[in-house]
Amino acid sequence: MYLVNMIYVSRTDPTFNPDDIAQILESSARNNARKGITGILAFNSSVFLQCLEGSRSAVNAAYHAILNDKRHHSPVLLAYDQIHQRRFPQWAMGYIGENLFSQEILLRYSNSVEFKPYELSGESAVCLLTELASHMPTLAAVPKLKTAQAS
Ligand code: FAD
Repeated sequence: MYLVNMIYVSRTDPTFNPDDIAQILESSARNNARKGITGILAFNSSVFLQCLEGSRSAVNAAYHAILNDKRHHSPVLLAYDQIHQRRFPQWAMGYIGENLFSQEILLRYSNSVEFKPYELSGESAVCLLTELASHMPTLAAVPKLKTAQAS
């Protein structure tokens, strides 16, 4: 089965608390590694920007589950494409927290120094995530997919 990537943006529910991030990453690591899904989750200013990549059936099923999650709302799909190769093969779900964002990086891909991914094109969103991910601490290579937190 060929590969796809999906990028969407969403907002946290008012009941969301910071501990929810750890729980989301824990579920993501476990489930995504099992399904061959990789990707990045960025979180800043109560907004998520996530890229999921893997087989079409696995990514579609994961997105369906994520859409039903009450911890966020107002999802908007920014991109859904067939891809030749993964951009984030090393992360079952890498995490980019607020500390990794810089005004310079945000301005490079948008019209604002603030994180406003609802206004991004799909292409800019994937470029932004790729650049943010390049600033994540390098971890020692391990033989299986892993999660990383850099917040
Ligand atoms: P478990 O991991 O066993 O659930 C652990 C705990 O999480 C539960 O006890 C409950 O307290 C809480 N929980 C689980 N589901 C929900 C829910 N729908 N609403 C509120 N609390 C809940 N999951 C992935 O597998 N891969 C991803 O890449 C991924 N990305 C996510 C990105 C975002 C922005 C959000 C909000 C969620 C994401 N999730 C992801 C989580 C996903 O929505 C499901 O919660 C998860 O897949 C359920 O996994 P599980 O059945 O193994 O439950």
